[in-house]
Amino acid sequence: MSNVIAIDGPAASGKSTAARLLAERLNIAYVNTGSLYRAVALAARRAGQEMGALSPEFLNTLKLEYVPDQNGRYELKLDGSLPGAELRSAETASGASLVATQLAVRDYLLGVQRSFAGEKLIVMEGRDIGTVIFPDARYKFFITATPEERARRRLAQSGEVTDGATLAEVAKAIAERDRQDSERRIAPLKPAPDAELIDTTGFAVGEVVDYIVKKVQA
Ligand code: C5P
Repeated sequence: MSNVIAIDGPAASGKSTAARLLAERLNIAYVNTGSLYRAVALAARRAGQEMGALSPEFLNTLKLEYVPDQNGRYELKLDGSLPGAELRSAETASGASLVATQLAVRDYLLGVQRSFAGEKLIVMEGRDIGTVIFPDARYKFFITATPEERARRRLAQSGEVTDGATLAEVAKAIAERDRQDSERRIAPLKPAPDAELIDTTGFAVGEVVDYIVKKVQA
Protein backbone atom coordinates (compact mmCIF):
# COMPACT_ATOMS: atom_id res chain seq x y z
CA MET A 1 0.00 0.00 0.00
CA SER A 2 1.35 3.48 -0.89
CA ASN A 3 1.56 6.10 1.82
CA VAL A 4 -0.54 8.54 -0.15
CA ILE A 5 -3.74 10.46 0.49
CA ALA A 6 -5.12 10.66 -3.07
CA ILE A 7 -7.43 13.59 -3.74
CA ASP A 8 -9.00 13.67 -7.19
CA GLY A 9 -11.80 15.66 -8.75
CA PRO A 10 -12.79 18.02 -11.55
CA ALA A 11 -11.43 21.54 -12.17
CA ALA A 12 -12.16 24.15 -9.50
CA SER A 13 -13.87 21.66 -7.19
CA GLY A 14 -11.89 23.06 -4.26
CA LYS A 15 -9.59 20.05 -4.14
CA SER A 16 -6.32 22.02 -4.34
CA THR A 17 -7.22 24.27 -1.42
CA ALA A 18 -8.50 21.32 0.59
CA ALA A 19 -5.37 19.27 -0.21
CA ARG A 20 -3.01 22.11 0.72
CA LEU A 21 -4.79 22.80 4.02
CA LEU A 22 -4.99 19.10 4.78
CA ALA A 23 -1.22 18.76 4.31
CA GLU A 24 -0.64 21.76 6.60
CA ARG A 25 -2.90 20.29 9.28
CA LEU A 26 -1.14 16.93 9.11
CA ASN A 27 2.27 18.58 8.64
CA ILE A 28 3.09 16.49 5.59
CA ALA A 29 4.11 17.25 1.99
CA TYR A 30 1.59 18.19 -0.68
CA VAL A 31 1.98 17.65 -4.42
CA ASN A 32 -0.36 19.39 -6.86
CA THR A 33 -0.05 17.25 -10.00
CA GLY A 34 -2.04 19.66 -12.19
CA SER A 35 1.02 21.93 -12.03
CA LEU A 36 3.04 19.25 -13.79
CA TYR A 37 0.66 19.16 -16.77
CA ARG A 38 0.52 22.95 -16.77
CA ALA A 39 4.34 23.13 -16.75
CA VAL A 40 4.56 20.74 -19.71
CA ALA A 41 2.08 22.92 -21.65
CA LEU A 42 3.97 26.08 -20.74
CA ALA A 43 7.34 24.62 -21.73
CA ALA A 44 5.91 23.35 -25.02
CA ARG A 45 4.51 26.77 -25.86
CA ARG A 46 7.77 28.50 -24.95
CA ALA A 47 9.69 26.06 -27.14
CA GLY A 48 7.26 26.51 -30.05
CA GLN A 49 6.31 22.82 -29.99
CA GLU A 50 3.17 21.46 -31.64
CA MET A 51 1.04 21.21 -28.47
CA GLY A 52 -1.23 18.46 -29.86
CA ALA A 53 1.54 15.87 -30.31
CA LEU A 54 4.49 16.18 -27.95
CA SER A 55 7.31 13.70 -28.47
CA PRO A 56 9.16 11.69 -25.81
CA GLU A 57 12.36 13.39 -27.06
CA PHE A 58 10.97 16.82 -26.23
CA LEU A 59 9.63 15.61 -22.85
CA ASN A 60 13.04 14.23 -21.93
CA THR A 61 14.54 17.71 -22.34
CA LEU A 62 12.27 19.13 -19.61
CA LYS A 63 13.64 19.88 -16.20
CA LEU A 64 10.81 19.65 -13.69
CA GLU A 65 11.62 19.56 -10.01
CA TYR A 66 9.88 20.23 -6.73
CA VAL A 67 11.83 22.25 -4.21
CA PRO A 68 10.74 23.05 -0.67
CA ASP A 69 10.07 26.77 0.05
CA GLN A 70 10.95 28.35 3.42
CA ASN A 71 7.75 26.87 4.91
CA GLY A 72 8.66 23.39 3.74
CA ARG A 73 5.96 23.44 1.05
CA TYR A 74 6.92 22.05 -2.33
CA GLU A 75 7.03 24.44 -5.26
CA LEU A 76 7.44 23.39 -8.86
CA LYS A 77 10.44 24.65 -10.78
CA LEU A 78 10.60 24.50 -14.55
CA ASP A 79 14.09 24.72 -16.03
CA GLY A 80 15.45 26.01 -12.76
CA SER A 81 12.96 28.80 -12.04
CA LEU A 82 9.45 29.21 -10.61
CA PRO A 83 7.00 29.59 -13.51
CA GLY A 84 4.90 32.18 -11.60
CA ALA A 85 1.53 33.54 -12.74
CA GLU A 86 1.89 32.12 -16.25
CA LEU A 87 1.34 28.64 -14.78
CA ARG A 88 -2.10 29.65 -13.51
CA SER A 89 -3.35 31.42 -16.67
CA ALA A 90 -6.49 30.22 -18.45
CA GLU A 91 -4.40 29.59 -21.58
CA THR A 92 -1.99 27.32 -19.69
CA ALA A 93 -4.94 25.50 -18.08
CA SER A 94 -6.48 24.61 -21.42
CA GLY A 95 -3.04 23.71 -22.83
CA ALA A 96 -2.58 21.39 -19.83
CA SER A 97 -5.88 19.70 -20.58
CA LEU A 98 -4.74 19.14 -24.19
CA VAL A 99 -1.28 17.77 -23.39
CA ALA A 100 -2.88 15.56 -20.71
CA THR A 101 -4.67 13.58 -23.46
CA GLN A 102 -1.32 12.29 -24.79
CA LEU A 103 0.09 8.93 -23.77
CA ALA A 104 3.71 10.15 -24.04
CA VAL A 105 2.99 12.96 -21.57
CA ARG A 106 1.08 10.76 -19.12
CA ASP A 107 3.80 8.10 -19.23
CA TYR A 108 6.50 10.67 -18.62
CA LEU A 109 4.63 12.24 -15.67
CA LEU A 110 3.68 8.83 -14.23
CA GLY A 111 7.32 8.25 -13.28
CA VAL A 112 7.70 11.78 -11.91
CA GLN A 113 4.61 11.36 -9.71
CA ARG A 114 5.43 7.87 -8.45
CA SER A 115 8.86 9.03 -7.34
CA PHE A 116 7.21 11.01 -4.52
CA ALA A 117 5.93 8.01 -2.60
CA GLY A 118 8.01 6.75 0.25
CA GLU A 119 7.89 6.04 3.94
CA LYS A 120 6.23 9.33 4.83
CA LEU A 121 2.54 9.95 4.16
CA ILE A 122 1.96 12.62 1.46
CA VAL A 123 -1.08 14.35 -0.01
CA MET A 124 -1.23 14.11 -3.79
CA GLU A 125 -3.94 15.83 -5.72
CA GLY A 126 -5.05 15.55 -9.36
CA ARG A 127 -7.40 13.66 -11.68
CA ASP A 128 -6.09 10.09 -11.70
CA ILE A 129 -4.10 9.67 -8.49
CA GLY A 130 -6.45 7.06 -7.04
CA THR A 131 -7.10 5.31 -10.35
CA VAL A 132 -3.72 5.24 -12.16
CA ILE A 133 -0.81 6.78 -10.25
CA PHE A 134 -1.46 5.14 -6.88
CA PRO A 135 -4.29 2.59 -7.18
CA ASP A 136 -3.00 1.24 -3.86
CA ALA A 137 -3.12 4.62 -2.06
CA ARG A 138 -3.81 4.37 1.66
CA TYR A 139 -6.69 6.91 1.41
CA LYS A 140 -8.72 8.05 -1.59
CA PHE A 141 -11.15 10.93 -1.88
CA PHE A 142 -12.98 12.30 -4.92
CA ILE A 143 -14.08 15.88 -4.44
CA THR A 144 -16.91 17.41 -6.47
CA ALA A 145 -19.18 20.45 -6.43
CA THR A 146 -21.89 21.67 -8.81
CA PRO A 147 -20.64 23.45 -11.98
CA GLU A 148 -22.11 26.79 -10.76
CA GLU A 149 -20.34 26.52 -7.43
CA ARG A 150 -17.06 25.63 -9.13
CA ALA A 151 -17.25 28.64 -11.47
CA ARG A 152 -17.90 30.92 -8.47
CA ARG A 153 -14.94 29.42 -6.60
CA ARG A 154 -12.62 29.79 -9.57
CA LEU A 155 -13.48 33.49 -9.90
CA ALA A 156 -12.96 34.03 -6.17
CA GLN A 157 -9.59 32.21 -6.17
CA SER A 158 -6.88 34.81 -5.76
CA GLY A 159 -3.99 32.83 -7.28
CA GLU A 160 -5.92 31.89 -10.40
CA VAL A 161 -5.68 34.23 -13.38
CA THR A 162 -9.12 34.50 -14.98
CA ASP A 163 -8.26 37.52 -17.15
CA GLY A 164 -11.38 39.50 -16.19
CA ALA A 165 -13.72 36.76 -17.43
CA THR A 166 -17.38 36.73 -16.44
CA LEU A 167 -18.99 33.95 -14.39
CA ALA A 168 -20.60 32.54 -17.55
CA GLU A 169 -17.25 32.51 -19.40
CA VAL A 170 -15.48 30.78 -16.51
CA ALA A 171 -18.33 28.22 -16.27
CA LYS A 172 -17.98 27.53 -20.01
CA ALA A 173 -14.19 27.04 -19.79
CA ILE A 174 -14.63 24.68 -16.82
CA ALA A 175 -17.32 22.70 -18.64
CA GLU A 176 -15.00 22.34 -21.65
CA ARG A 177 -12.16 21.07 -19.45
CA ASP A 178 -14.55 18.65 -17.70
CA ARG A 179 -15.56 17.30 -21.09
CA GLN A 180 -11.97 16.93 -22.29
CA ASP A 181 -10.82 15.39 -18.99
CA SER A 182 -13.64 12.87 -18.70
CA GLU A 183 -13.93 11.89 -22.37
CA ARG A 184 -10.24 11.30 -23.04
CA ARG A 185 -9.24 7.73 -23.80
CA ILE A 186 -6.28 7.53 -21.44
CA ALA A 187 -6.86 7.92 -17.70
CA PRO A 188 -10.22 9.70 -17.98
CA LEU A 189 -11.40 11.65 -14.97
CA LYS A 190 -13.52 9.32 -12.82
CA PRO A 191 -13.59 8.29 -9.18
CA ALA A 192 -11.67 5.16 -8.20
CA PRO A 193 -14.17 2.42 -7.21
CA ASP A 194 -12.85 2.55 -3.65
CA ALA A 195 -12.67 6.37 -3.35
CA GLU A 196 -14.95 8.21 -0.98
CA LEU A 197 -17.03 10.82 -2.85
CA ILE A 198 -17.33 14.19 -1.16
CA ASP A 199 -19.78 16.74 -2.62
CA THR A 200 -18.50 20.02 -1.20
CA THR A 201 -21.32 22.23 -2.56
CA GLY A 202 -22.42 24.51 0.27
CA PHE A 203 -19.54 23.53 2.55
CA ALA A 204 -16.65 25.72 3.61
CA VAL A 205 -13.22 24.32 2.79
CA GLY A 206 -12.42 24.11 6.53
CA GLU A 207 -15.35 21.72 7.01
CA VAL A 208 -14.10 19.53 4.17
CA VAL A 209 -10.61 19.43 5.66
CA ASP A 210 -11.98 18.61 9.14
CA TYR A 211 -13.92 15.73 7.64
CA ILE A 212 -10.89 14.28 5.83
CA VAL A 213 -8.62 14.72 8.86
CA LYS A 214 -11.10 12.69 10.95
CA LYS A 215 -11.16 9.94 8.36
CA VAL A 216 -7.38 9.79 8.11
CA GLN A 217 -6.88 9.81 11.86
CA ALA A 218 -9.67 7.31 12.56
O1 C5P B 1 -5.63 20.65 -11.56
P1 C5P B 1 -5.42 21.58 -12.72
O2 C5P B 1 -6.66 22.30 -13.11
O3 C5P B 1 -4.25 22.50 -12.50
O4 C5P B 1 -5.00 20.64 -13.93
C1 C5P B 1 -4.81 21.12 -15.26
C2 C5P B 1 -5.13 20.00 -16.26
O5 C5P B 1 -4.15 18.97 -16.13
C3 C5P B 1 -6.47 19.29 -16.04
O6 C5P B 1 -7.54 19.91 -16.72
C4 C5P B 1 -6.21 17.90 -16.58
O7 C5P B 1 -6.44 17.85 -17.96
C5 C5P B 1 -4.74 17.69 -16.34
N1 C5P B 1 -4.45 16.80 -15.21
C6 C5P B 1 -4.52 15.44 -15.42
N2 C5P B 1 -4.19 14.57 -14.42
C7 C5P B 1 -3.80 15.04 -13.22
C8 C5P B 1 -3.77 16.43 -12.96
C9 C5P B 1 -4.12 17.29 -14.00
O8 C5P B 1 -4.87 15.00 -16.51
N3 C5P B 1 -3.46 14.16 -12.26
